[in-house]
Amino acid sequence: MTTSFRTIWIKNPLSILAEHAGSGIVVQGTRIIELVAAGKTPATAYDDVFDASSHVVIPGLINTHHHFFQTLTRAHPEGINKELFPWLESLYPIWASKLDDESFRMANRLAMTELLLSGCTTASDHHYLFNDKLDGASDIQVEEAARSGIRFILNRGSMNLSKKDGGLPPDIAVQDEDTILADSERLLQMYHDVSDGAMLQVALAPCAPFNVTKRLMLESLYLAEKYDCQLHTHLAETLDENDYCLEHFNCRPVDYLEDVGWLNPRVWLAHGIHFNHDEICKLGKHGVGICHCPTSNMVLASGHCRTIDLENAGAPVGLGVDGSASNDSSNLIEGVRHALMLNRLTYNAATVTHFDAFRWATEGSAKCIGRSDIGKIEVGRQADLAMFTLDELRFSGAGDPLAALVLCGAHRADRVMVAGQWKVVDGEPVGTDIRELRSSHGEAARKFLGNL
Ligand SMILES: [Zn+2]
Repeated sequence: MTTSFRTIWIKNPLSILAEHAGSGIVVQGTRIIELVAAGKTPATAYDDVFDASSHVVIPGLINTHHHFFQTLTRAHPEGINKELFPWLESLYPIWASKLDDESFRMANRLAMTELLLSGCTTASDHHYLFNDKLDGASDIQVEEAARSGIRFILNRGSMNLSKKDGGLPPDIAVQDEDTILADSERLLQMYHDVSDGAMLQVALAPCAPFNVTKRLMLESLYLAEKYDCQLHTHLAETLDENDYCLEHFNCRPVDYLEDVGWLNPRVWLAHGIHFNHDEICKLGKHGVGICHCPTSNMVLASGHCRTIDLENAGAPVGLGVDGSASNDSSNLIEGVRHALMLNRLTYNAATVTHFDAFRWATEGSAKCIGRSDIGKIEVGRQADLAMFTLDELRFSGAGDPLAALVLCGAHRADRVMVAGQWKVVDGEPVGTDIRELRSSHGEAARKFLGNL
């Protein structure tokens, strides 16, 4: 079977984030089949050679938290210079009244392209806002992921508590429980692929415990077990949220999660900042993943995720860019740099190295989304790779090529491979005209600046 695939030797990388692969790797079909030790040549016969002598090769980065639709409201005058709750209260009405199928499609196309160009090969998008002008949100996301070639985790988000229930979102931005659950099951049946190497999976993702009902949390867990999928939500992003939980549920967010059965390895949480010591131990004990979003946490002044403590307790830690209205870009290699810097302020320089930041964005992210077939350059794993040159002025004089990607600020990959296929070549996305995309997306975004 495998002999029908072409085999390529990615030869003699300038540097590679893998052990015993100094002379590169061999890719056959969608997978890595051999690591070639320094000074050696492949034991496998190969059809093609890619000379990687000017490339730093790392596993494709995995983005475990994003809201693609927010690319339409970056640096929005209503949103800038605010913390989470007032930021949400300013932007919710704009999103709810303006978002439609066409602008949503452009937002997805742009975010996926940005991610690929930054070396990201797997993206998980948490879309939770459904209004009456957005009929086919999830199906649009599936179409756009296939178009771009990125590996995609569709998070069927949800909100069913709005202003009339004492929540933050406008009434027109939420759905009822039965609609959400029926659509969740439809998407799981249509798109959720549990096979090794899957290009498309579905996760269920109530937006946050403070904007959905308890029944929705419980029913989402039931569906996740039935269809073997992951569960995702925002948690402990701000102190406001902890206060809200205490006021409305008479407990802290982690206690509430425990109450609804969400402390298990199917679950990964966005942000995970405001935990106490006992909560960190509890999350670790149950293998709950945390998606660290350093850029967004700095922009919204949300706080410091205790990444090292969480990992030491047993919780996988991944990396996410978060929505493009609180980042305000979709650049994951930039997120790796921000993770290094922010965590050095939280801990110290010796405790947090560039290898830690890379691990969060690769292996850690893979664990969060329940994947063992991506996130590492290893025989048998998917051939998802990001390759950077050090040609720009910012790298001139750099000594350690891997450290240079993080310390000098790499921001654009030269080559990106997903499942053995080139999706970025010479810094350009395959099959996408960047100027046309910039123009179409810009036009779609302009109406989000107008009056409501
Ligand atoms: Zn988020």
